[in-house]
Amino acid sequence: MNNKLLLHSCCAVCSSHVISVLAQEYDLSVFYYNPNIWPREEYEHRKSEQIRLINTAPFCSNVKYFDEEYDHSEYLACVNGLEKEPEGGLRCTECFRMRLERTAQFAKKNNFDLFCTTLTVSPHKNSEIINAIGEELAEKYDLSWLYSNFKKKDGYLHSTQLAKEYDLYRQDFCGCEFAWRGRTQTTFM
Ligand code: SF4
Repeated sequence: MNNKLLLHSCCAVCSSHVISVLAQEYDLSVFYYNPNIWPREEYEHRKSEQIRLINTAPFCSNVKYFDEEYDHSEYLACVNGLEKEPEGGLRCTECFRMRLERTAQFAKKNNFDLFCTTLTVSPHKNSEIINAIGEELAEKYDLSWLYSNFKKKDGYLHSTQLAKEYDLYRQDFCGCEFAWRGRTQTTFM
């Protein structure tokens, strides 16, 4: 029996490559928890694309899906005082921590062996920071963290190819209102 792995997913596009790799090796479940996404319509659209990918792609055939209720106030409370931080700064670190901590809690409650995240597939996100948070939470919740840097070995390129193949929605900003305001400077997906 393969180890039970809970994969936090930020969106269908990033998850596509990661699932295609991990589903071969683990009893894989996707956990969609992203209260950072704004507005709600954007959140719902990204979520429905995540579900559509899992329901249609053959490499997702044994993958299970879980999510949590959307509550954007959780995110706003988490980044209170950090709104003006630049992309990739402290606001993002706290945003990663919030999402990974809920993932760890869900993993613990539901008897997963390990947890990890799709976030490291993005060339715009610092995988060292993400892995350090994951390790810290693994210790706190007595779980194992799967170290990753999914952008390596053309992982990001593969995710864009799969997005094309499955006609996935490719957003042009990371997710929160602060990233949306800066979207003319940076393209995320
Ligand atoms: S830019 Fe992305 S990672 Fe950073 S705080 Fe906003 S949603 Fe979170």
